[in-house]
Amino acid sequence: MSAAAFFLVVNLFIGLCFSAVFAVVSIYSRWRSAALLFSAGLFIASLTMPAELAVAYAGNPEFWAIIAYDTVLAGLVLLHRGIALLYDRRFPNWVAVATFIAGTVIYLLIRDIPLSWWGYGFLYQGPYALVTFAAAANVFLSDRRTPIDRALAIVLLLSGLHFFVKAALAAVMERGASASAYVSTDYAVISQGITAVLIVSVGLMLLAVLTLDIMAVERGRAERDSLSGLANRRGFETAVRLAIRKSGERQHAVILCDLDRFKSINDTYGHHAGDMVITAFGTMISAQAGANAIVGRIGGEEFAVFLPDTSPTVAVAVAETLRIGARKMMVPGLPGGFVVTASFGVAILGARGSLEIALRQADAALYDAKRGGRDCVQQARSVAA
Ligand code: GH3
Ligand code: MG
Ligand code: MG
Repeated sequence: MSAAAFFLVVNLFIGLCFSAVFAVVSIYSRWRSAALLFSAGLFIASLTMPAELAVAYAGNPEFWAIIAYDTVLAGLVLLHRGIALLYDRRFPNWVAVATFIAGTVIYLLIRDIPLSWWGYGFLYQGPYALVTFAAAANVFLSDRRTPIDRALAIVLLLSGLHFFVKAALAAVMERGASASAYVSTDYAVISQGITAVLIVSVGLMLLAVLTLDIMAVERGRAERDSLSGLANRRGFETAVRLAIRKSGERQHAVILCDLDRFKSINDTYGHHAGDMVITAFGTMISAQAGANAIVGRIGGEEFAVFLPDTSPTVAVAVAETLRIGARKMMVPGLPGGFVVTASFGVAILGARGSLEIALRQADAALYDAKRGGRDCVQQARSVAA
């Protein structure tokens, strides 16, 4: 087996492995179609390797040469289509099909040109390069600009350039007088070697983009409460810490809310009705607390509201609004006229204050509200003093 044939087999193996990995990733990714396009693209592009071997060793080399050319082109078009989906860029199906047909026509038109002519390689590789440059441009021009997106764009750009490097090498190196001689040339060894590196680089970058996205989605899920749709305690604390860090030297407020005698709602009307109350209360406080508020369900029937850049007076007024909002809620599953009430504790967080201490103070105020008869708002003693 020649060295180039060995590389062809290696590249076939790498391409098929990546194809399988993207098929698996598509199960977990919200970019399912893009992952499947990458899988299909790499699978089809991998078929160029057996086709190249068939050109060299089987009969009918002209036929296999077209297959070898078109499998790479189809693979690149599918990759580009997937990248356009992933990066929310336009690359409609008809343009994809037209690109494939145009590339194939160019290939068929240049078949009669002698391989020894220096321009042949540029015409042969041109469509590959253009599709890859277009994919790189789409990543560069998209709104997503994290380091991994930048790295992908650069690797795609290098991949596009590598087709021209191949064309230049083909012009200066012995490329073989016919398509079937290709596999035994040094040019084929170098060409397939570079291809191996680039398949791995592009494959790994795309894989990194998809897996980082899956991790971000999972992190989001871990910080969200599925019943109310609000942030859970972890999500609430993360969001508040970020808001405090961004806000600079400001005073903020936290309100802790706890539904009154909730256990008896569960006991009387059932757990499902209790769940409806939790959902309704969560929706109400999100709607009433103001656009800048961060709202979370931090315990069973306990909620927290963070009000950035807010004075104690305003915070108490907001808590009063929420208290009245609770009383006005119409909850499916509860008899008409049933009034849900909640108690509220308000605390203030100084410019460099700790969220933990503020939450503890708000909790103490909430406890005061419960002892004071429930359905009321209490300020933390440090605030009220
Ligand atoms: P208080 O006025 O003093 O706050 O009394 P309470 O009954 O509201 O408080 P308690 O802590 O005694 O009971 C809270 C109940 O909330 C107990 C628990 O079963 C219920 N609960 C916690 N999480 C959920 C939930 O997700 N759904 C439902 N339906 N009930 C929940
Ligand atoms: Mg309660
Ligand atoms: Mg409670």
